[in-house]
Amino acid sequence: MDLRSYVRDVPDFPRDGIVFRDITPLLLDPRASAAALGLLVEHARGHGPDLVVGIEARGLIWGGALAQALGVGFVPVRKPGKLPAETVSVAYELEYGVDALEVHADAIAAGVRVLVHDDLIATGGTAAATVEAVERLGGSVAACSFLIELAFLGGRDRLTGIEVRSLISYES
Ligand code: AMP
Repeated sequence: MDLRSYVRDVPDFPRDGIVFRDITPLLLDPRASAAALGLLVEHARGHGPDLVVGIEARGLIWGGALAQALGVGFVPVRKPGKLPAETVSVAYELEYGVDALEVHADAIAAGVRVLVHDDLIATGGTAAATVEAVERLGGSVAACSFLIELAFLGGRDRLTGIEVRSLISYES
């Protein structure tokens, strides 16, 4: 199945010059969604994670499904101020300025093996910050998976030593 045909390109969103890779057509199609999830599950099983960590916003949708299919727990990583209990926060650089991600401090026990999932890796800043949060809590990242990789931005280079899998790769 050609998963790429279920990704909609939206030019100049959220700002001029950015082509937004919209996965909502993939979510709308249950057969294509199941095929994508099956590939992600197969990859994740090879790493035997104890937990799946999914990144806000679209990483929560696929990450949750992945955790369910693997029969392991799910941990959300969210934008600042969204999680109600005590959090660990990691700042990361954006093209202009700085943002942060948070995870509940009690969500990842020391020694736990984690699979990090997001819908898309671009520069890799978001995923690298998530890896840092997991490691600060004493967990280790077994692998990272993404539906989409913008390979020309070299994001996987920021995840040195971690196995990175993407289902759809854009070279430009
Ligand atoms: P980065 O930290 O640069 O790897 O950016 C990854 C995060 O930003 C992911 O959570 C993506 O959902 C989002 N993102 C970045 N670029 C795009 C894009 N062109 N289309 C859709 N989402 C994007």
